[in-house]
Amino acid sequence: MVRVRYAPSPTGSPHVGNIRTALFNWVFARHHGGKFIVRIEDTDQNRYVPGSEEDILFSLRWLGIDWDEGPEVGGPHAPYHQSQRLEIYRKVAHELVEQGKAYKCFCTPEELDQMRAEQKRMGAAATMYDRRCRKLTPAEVKAREADGLPYVIRFAMPLEGTVSYEDLIHGHTEFRNALTDDFVMLKSDGFPTYHLANVVDDHLMQITHVIRGDEWISSMPRHLNLYKALGWETPQFAHLPLLLGADKQKLSKRHGAVQFVEFIREGYLPEAMFNFLALCGWNPGDDREILTREEIIREFSLERVSDNPFVFHHEKLLWMNGHYLRELPKERLIELTIPYLQEAGLLPKELTPEQRTYAERVIPLEQEKMKLLSDVVALTDFFFTDQLKIDEKAVRKWYSEPHIPQMLEELIRRFEALEPFNTEQIEQVIRGVAEWLGVKAAEVIHPVRVALSGRTTGPSLFEMIEVLGKRRVLQRLRNAQKWIPR
Ligand code: GLU
Repeated sequence: MVRVRYAPSPTGSPHVGNIRTALFNWVFARHHGGKFIVRIEDTDQNRYVPGSEEDILFSLRWLGIDWDEGPEVGGPHAPYHQSQRLEIYRKVAHELVEQGKAYKCFCTPEELDQMRAEQKRMGAAATMYDRRCRKLTPAEVKAREADGLPYVIRFAMPLEGTVSYEDLIHGHTEFRNALTDDFVMLKSDGFPTYHLANVVDDHLMQITHVIRGDEWISSMPRHLNLYKALGWETPQFAHLPLLLGADKQKLSKRHGAVQFVEFIREGYLPEAMFNFLALCGWNPGDDREILTREEIIREFSLERVSDNPFVFHHEKLLWMNGHYLRELPKERLIELTIPYLQEAGLLPKELTPEQRTYAERVIPLEQEKMKLLSDVVALTDFFFTDQLKIDEKAVRKWYSEPHIPQMLEELIRRFEALEPFNTEQIEQVIRGVAEWLGVKAAEVIHPVRVALSGRTTGPSLFEMIEVLGKRRVLQRLRNAQKWIPR
């Protein structure tokens, strides 16, 4: 049975790459009919950021990623917060000390600083713990403990030889043990470091495949040696390619949104994010880009995950979101966009039945043009407010034309009498007025659009007039009469 885990640290709102890792694990589990486990790695008290765990779980749920074991749902290996499992790690660390595979280190921060400074002075490229406490005799250790000196527990790395493993994405990978220092497993406050807690829990939780970002490859010599020392079988490992910005630098704020919740806020759809993230490093083997969740689960395999860094193109994601937005059933589009209009103050928090019906007619008019749910605001604001943002240039261009005064008067007269006030009838009026004035239809259509929306582009004019309704249309046409220069 495949058992994979997503093991986020609540050190901030999750990066989109981190959620990509969760998604790959989830898809892999579902593909194999296995289990997906969420484990919160909250042992670094200094880096803990309140609210980040909520953001992590919210992001997963938003994407439709459920977990079989983990926070809130529990499971056979509970608790799933490492901060509630401290005793387990302590025990393992002390057992390794007893077996001589780890040791207590009493070096103070000042001593360590001095050691590093000295190594730098001697021209070392990288500094490393010099293993001085590894040489302490049992009596020396006892004496220091009797003095109540605080200590950490360090792993005694093999001083020679290599460790290797077969990465499911990168293939055979080997490390020289001598290059890795005797890393800290247990800190002086009794908290484990990432390396210890992560390995212990992957073992106890019977994880079969560790799928995580490339940045963890460098931890492999530590983890592999820990597994060896503990006599535990290693899971399989797959390291996912790093996400880069268009400039091939690590994906960061400079490239646009990077926190997953920012994408949610900007108005991406879960189906678009899911599809896009699945393609961040994986591909279905052909050039299909639009894939349903079911297709992704069915076709996913680690063999098709690239070992090259992946360039994350925000424009591509935007394009994909536009695709999914166009396919959205109207009711859902309306449900999802109304909050953006409320947020912008264009609709009240509580809608009257009339406001709701009106919004339901307005929003679909611009469905084709939206790339983000939040685009609804700029595309439809003039329907909801009489405070139009006026394109002054367009006003100057059209409202000095000689036919405009008569055009406005005639439109107002005919619209007042128009019943029913519907698209076909409205079109007839506009074309009729153009003919009556002896001008082209466009010479009526453009200035009317500016009068009604303040701008030169928008949804089909006749439909737009119907939806705006007679009262607003007459009011805005009358208002436009003031633009005529005298
Ligand atoms: N807690 C680590 C992180 O924040 C987990 C890395 C791993 O999956 O081993 O990404």
